[in-house]
Amino acid sequence: NRCLQGPEQALELRKSYFYPCTQHFYKEPPLLVKGKGQYLFDHEGKRYTDFFAGVSVMSCGHSNEEITAKTSHQLQELQHTCTIYLTEANVRLAERLAGLLPGNLNRTFFCNSGSEANEGALLLARLHTGRRGFISLTQSLHGRTYLTMSVTGLAMWRADRYLEEEPVYFIPRPFDDNHVDHEEAARHSIAALKTLLELKGHEMAAMIIEPLQGNGGIIVPPLWYFKEVKAVLESYGVLLICDEIQSGFGRTGSLFAIQHYGVVPDILTMAKALGNGTPISAFAAADSIAASLNRPSASTFGGNPVSSVTALAVLDYIQENGLVERAEQMGCLLLTELNGLKETFSFIRDVRGLGLMVGMELDFDDPAINAVKCDELLELMKNRGFLLGKNGVGRNVVAFQPPLIITEQNIADMAIAMKDCLLAIGG
Ligand code: PMP
Repeated sequence: NRCLQGPEQALELRKSYFYPCTQHFYKEPPLLVKGKGQYLFDHEGKRYTDFFAGVSVMSCGHSNEEITAKTSHQLQELQHTCTIYLTEANVRLAERLAGLLPGNLNRTFFCNSGSEANEGALLLARLHTGRRGFISLTQSLHGRTYLTMSVTGLAMWRADRYLEEEPVYFIPRPFDDNHVDHEEAARHSIAALKTLLELKGHEMAAMIIEPLQGNGGIIVPPLWYFKEVKAVLESYGVLLICDEIQSGFGRTGSLFAIQHYGVVPDILTMAKALGNGTPISAFAAADSIAASLNRPSASTFGGNPVSSVTALAVLDYIQENGLVERAEQMGCLLLTELNGLKETFSFIRDVRGLGLMVGMELDFDDPAINAVKCDELLELMKNRGFLLGKNGVGRNVVAFQPPLIITEQNIADMAIAMKDCLLAIGG
């Protein structure tokens, strides 16, 4: 039977047939059947305004007609064969990305998921430098494969106890969890990087960073931070891999988040929003580094015509609709609304972000309660018709990462509902 009765039946089937670790949000999750623009609809037709966009995936909105028309057309014309043959869309996409990526990152290798792009980038760094070591930030998240999990700092995303065997070194992220002095935390992070490199610099292939940590709790490092990181790494011949999987394609108010920092990484990885729901990812590098991937290497589905045509349509849509600028403008409105709520509710400890990648940290003076209250808030907001995310080490940061087409009215409506729900959980 292909027609589920409701969410309870879907939950039962998940319990029976998915791996037990599989997560879902909400005590009573909606069964989603339709998406249109910034809205999602459940099996009973209830409408939700999507303020999470599947963790920064659906930047151009759900089932965007301009994009899906091109996807459907390509599905009917030529779905796929294998990347050993010539097709137009993937070469056009690579050419287009070369023009958009910062600096001389003009070579693109296509694959299918964020993890796979990061895995490829890490391998490339090893091949290029002839070294094995990696540096990463605490509370980072880079993927679900063996190597990407070993450079992931967040404990909850590290499943394999053999990960410790990889030569990976974590330095403190540039963020003061006590909110006393973020600049000092960033200086401390640089000092730790220098100390590590003095000892192990000759063994390190690359440092991998998210310009803004996503799952770590929406962390925006000080503007000087990545220039310092790059300079220190360069002096030891260590590459900088920038993971833009969550922050790329306009999300933070610039096409790539690292552009806020005036830094060009050696390798940049991208996924999620590039396909607006169709799987595609890539890692890009300059000629000299790309040349180090010196064996025939191809991905069965990487750069397939359907995904490539979709990605080209996504890039067109972002450009034609000014979504990068829109992310910045709407992000400012969102921050203003949330900062207003922070004035009223003492348990909102922090509001932070860039563009439409915004976090609101809750603090009830007890880490055990924080996560419970955050869940309660998300449940209430869902009932009011707003889907939000949560992240952070303590799972107490409400994440706002809506489609970039979100409107002023959507934000105002969300803020009204949020005030009521904050009152409900705070009382
Ligand atoms: N890097 C970052 C920053 C991510 O947010 C994610 C996914 N949440 C990944 C890598 C892994 O991407 P995927 O799930 O597509 O493998």
